[in-house]
Amino acid sequence: MLIVPEREIANLMTRAAAFDAVEQVFAAMAAGDAYNFPVVREAIGHEEALYGFKGGFDQAGLTLGLKAGGYWPHNLEKRDLINHQSTVFLFDPDTGKPSAMVGGNLLTALRTAAASSVSIKHLAPPDAKVIGMIGAGHQATFQLRAALEQRRFEKVIGWNYHPEMLPNIAKVAQEAGLPFEAVQLDGMVEADVIISITSAFAPSLMAGHVSPGTHIACMGTDTKGKQEVEAALLARSGVFTDEVAQAISLGEAQHAIAAGLISEGDINQLGAVINGTHPGRISPDQITLFDGTGVGLQDLAVAAAVVALAAAKGVAIKVDI
Ligand code: NAD
Repeated sequence: MLIVPEREIANLMTRAAAFDAVEQVFAAMAAGDAYNFPVVREAIGHEEALYGFKGGFDQAGLTLGLKAGGYWPHNLEKRDLINHQSTVFLFDPDTGKPSAMVGGNLLTALRTAAASSVSIKHLAPPDAKVIGMIGAGHQATFQLRAALEQRRFEKVIGWNYHPEMLPNIAKVAQEAGLPFEAVQLDGMVEADVIISITSAFAPSLMAGHVSPGTHIACMGTDTKGKQEVEAALLARSGVFTDEVAQAISLGEAQHAIAAGLISEGDINQLGAVINGTHPGRISPDQITLFDGTGVGLQDLAVAAAVVALAAAKGVAIKVDI
């Protein structure tokens, strides 16, 4: 099997390669060629850690495997390690033999940013000029960098619960040569695209903060109880997701479903838009909302891409197992 260490990922993986891998696997999921296995996530009673597995099989891309890892809240303070830790394991679908082990930390950020980016490509207004960021933590910088490649944006606006973190995203805007303005939440009416990527358990973005025609990518809610946007906003929007089962159970849609504001049938797979079996945005005034919950197949897709790149460059470590 091949090992691709975490330290090699930044030199190998590009945003473009992550985008293509995620777009393809969303399409395969909607076509019924790829499916995710039930997620395991456990509080292990040690170091207050949450540990679990996200796996799946993509019959189109012939990718089989899982991402194992989770969240160790004390890593940074105690050991100067990042709190999110993950590793991807790939298996040969013909034989069941392990084929690769890949550092999953940077890949997680790249595949999550690629997901909202794919949603912007397929759902955002073509002439979007202003992008609004809600959140300014670790993932937010990756999100913004990737999103800026999808439209000819002219300005970045941002709000964060902890305003002292806003320079993180201001820096990304500056690197892209764009002006950045910190706004209050009602200032988000100026945005044509909004990305929310926070760890909040109560809504920040309300329906009244969003103008007609906006595309919103809700990327932070990946657990039961988390929430970033008002449930009423989903009732006003065309709702899309990576995987409907996850959206209704642990994604942003969980709240609108529980409140009876939308039903499962109102939620569409982004992959169907990619495949052309769903029209996507149906009018310039429609608000579109992508509920990006994060699926194992995304991890496998980017890991398979990076293994191919590592093998081609001769930097993968070969071991017999
Ligand atoms: P981080 O700790 O670096 O940043 C957290 C962000 O949330 C900051 O902007 C912080 O100010 C904000 N925040 C904290 N409490 C808040 C509150 N009460 N109200 C509003 N905002 C609040 O975390 P990160 O690594 O950037 O991850 C952000 C979120 O994205 C997490 O919830 C994480 O689980 C989620 N995530 C989702 C996916 C996916 O595939 N959808 C993938 C990775 C991470």
